[in-house]
Amino acid sequence: MTTPVAVHPIVSPWGRFGLYSFFIDAPEPAIVDTGIASSPAEGMVPALEAIGRRIEDVRWIFLTHGHIDHIGGAYALWELTGRRAQVVIHEADAPMLRSRRAHVDEYLAGRGQYLQDPDGEAKLTAATNAVISGEMEPALLVRGGETLSLGGDVTVSVRSIPGHTAGSVAYVLDGQNDVFVGDAVQVHGAANGFPGFVDPAGYRKSLQYLNDEIRPQHLYLGHPYRRADGTPYGVELDAGQAREALQASLELEARVRDAACGCVAAGLQDTDSPYSPFASVAGELGYQGDPGLEPSPFFTTLHGYRTTMDHLTQDEEISTHG
Ligand SMILES: [Zn+2]
Repeated sequence: MTTPVAVHPIVSPWGRFGLYSFFIDAPEPAIVDTGIASSPAEGMVPALEAIGRRIEDVRWIFLTHGHIDHIGGAYALWELTGRRAQVVIHEADAPMLRSRRAHVDEYLAGRGQYLQDPDGEAKLTAATNAVISGEMEPALLVRGGETLSLGGDVTVSVRSIPGHTAGSVAYVLDGQNDVFVGDAVQVHGAANGFPGFVDPAGYRKSLQYLNDEIRPQHLYLGHPYRRADGTPYGVELDAGQAREALQASLELEARVRDAACGCVAAGLQDTDSPYSPFASVAGELGYQGDPGLEPSPFFTTLHGYRTTMDHLTQDEEISTHG
């Protein structure tokens, strides 16, 4: 590749936060992640106008994973392209694009069990109605390993990096090794101050894969994740910052794992603590954030360790008795 392909971050307003998408200025332009329902009109249209590009020319919509703040604007953006852009998502997260209800079901099966909010289901149903612009079938289901042409000699490779969600992927701009990972590199989390992942072993393996094999030249994050001291990384990291963020994410995962293993091994206790039944984990890690604040990464992650360890225990029992 002769001339580097430009990447432009786009920030769309959402309450206290900004939601980040990235415009890849290729012959067939792409947008990575779509924010929520209002993001295409309020964030992307003016941002593209400012750099002399038009939203109707976007030909690819790359979704890093299925969470509402990444897929919420997909249908609205697709409409703004005259329904010509191809929407790409991993098959494991595609149900989140096809159905608002899938988000509620995921809540009830995971973090909702611990939050004990009688209105939780209704609140999340209302949120999915407000922030998801439409239910849709993706044009392209991926599993990792695909290479997509963006015209000319520009290609993007898809890599499977499960952990944050089952269907998290990285999109790698080939030749310049710009890597878009959405929420797959959590460091100390964003606003909630805790890293969120449903599959702890997958999360660790994906971080190692990014660190050891992909080695991003630039790493593009879905949110300004924080360091241990609370200061945020930006959403565009150079090679050195990328390595720092990946190492810090691995180190924190190891600490959470140790605390979670100890807590589960000691037997989970229901208490009055807002972190119940994982109060010892919050204590050991010094976590003082509100565990109930959506998307509740504390309970999502601890549920992930708990269920993994349950499986491990069962496996051990089977091997002992077999
Ligand atoms: Zn996410």
